[in-house]
Amino acid sequence: MKDVIIEAKEVKKTLGRGAGQVQALRGIDLSLRKGELTLLMGPSGSGKTTLLLILGCMLTPSSGTVAVCGVSTSDADKEGLAKIRRDHIGFVFQSYHLFPTLTAAQNVQLALDIRDHRGRDAAKKAREALALVGLEQKAKALPDSLSGGEQQRVAIARAFVANPSVILADEPTSALDSDNGRAIMHILSEAAHERDRAVLVVTHDPRIVPFADRIIEIEDGVLVAGKAGEPEPARMPKAAAWP
Ligand code: ADP
Ligand code: MG
Repeated sequence: MKDVIIEAKEVKKTLGRGAGQVQALRGIDLSLRKGELTLLMGPSGSGKTTLLLILGCMLTPSSGTVAVCGVSTSDADKEGLAKIRRDHIGFVFQSYHLFPTLTAAQNVQLALDIRDHRGRDAAKKAREALALVGLEQKAKALPDSLSGGEQQRVAIARAFVANPSVILADEPTSALDSDNGRAIMHILSEAAHERDRAVLVVTHDPRIVPFADRIIEIEDGVLVAGKAGEPEPARMPKAAAWP
């Protein structure tokens, strides 16, 4: 069995207050392994983003446990969680979240900067990460001058420049056309299969299915494919990816 990078057990999360309170997650068991691209699918409001934020240590569960690379997040304070994020996690948001006044290269380099990795070597690493997503020519471009697909590629370069053990991506192709969506999925697939990372992609786009090693479905805060939350791997034919 491949190394487990993230393990969630009996994770529950309540959001909001009073009458507006929602049980967003109602007992999730899930493991993410090295070298595997997992898809998390489910309707809008089913708890996908909440689960991703908890796995990425940006939100804490109301109950249950999360361990990242064997380290439990339960005892970690704010700074401890930030350290786990810095050491292990790369996050890709649906809407890119790039800093508009920084160039593509500076946006990527920021991920190294917050890890105290600065100077010439950091600049070189940022350029290399941009090259990996096919954007070396755009290193000096500001986000505004880039297409949506290019901005998402910068965001992905930023997520993996610091060599995280896991990449978590929240609907990374939803704002993109087919060609750009396919390019993004190829990059994430390569991160899992050639760089041996754990990759979890939230989506409701069926065109992404052929890229998956495993598909997990969530409905109303519960994993539905497999009672214990560990559904059988859905091995899909890779060749059929994207129309
Ligand atoms: P998804 O990403 O699958 O669309 P979310 O994880 O964003 O779902 O949301 C799960 C549920 O939690 C939804 O019912 C949503 O309305 C609710 N929710 C999300 N964020 C909050 C919040 N800050 N306060 C109250 N309810 C929330
Ligand atoms: Mg969401």
